[in-house]
Amino acid sequence: MRSADDPVAEDRTHLLHTFDLARAARAQGDRPFGALLADADGAILLTANNTEITKRDVTAHAETNLVRAASDSRWASTLEGTTMYTSTEPCLMCAGAIYLSGIGRVVYALPSRDLAALPGASDTVRMVPVPIAQALATGDGRPQIRHHPMGHAAFDPHLEYWKAQ
Ligand SMILES: [Zn+2]
Repeated sequence: MRSADDPVAEDRTHLLHTFDLARAARAQGDRPFGALLADADGAILLTANNTEITKRDVTAHAETNLVRAASDSRWASTLEGTTMYTSTEPCLMCAGAIYLSGIGRVVYALPSRDLAALPGASDTVRMVPVPIAQALATGDGRPQIRHHPMGHAAFDPHLEYWKAQ
């Protein structure tokens, strides 16, 4: 249920969940990214994590996996009222998928510039240095995009990961 009186607390709770999803992805041999979709009441509709390595698919980012699942679900016609929570700022590819999906709002924790600064990360992942808010600025105002700083918790799924790749 929505903690409607405190939407910031709700954002924080869902972002903490995406970190669990990111850790689960890492544990199964994929990259440490997770995302979830919540409805207008804050109830979780879908979760997804990165499956790039296990599926051998460079497009299998958590956010794009989530958009694919949402498009294939009974919620596909009502995505405008949903919020995607994601452990890390969506990349340009995922931003495009999110835009096409009509998802109304995106809340992310770790900015991509902070991901890129982790030792080894930018050597492993090709990153397009365009913030999602800038990438989608020419759209119709959807999705709304919010960076919710989560401090150390946002880095935790990535600790000692990228250096070892
Ligand atoms: Zn992506």
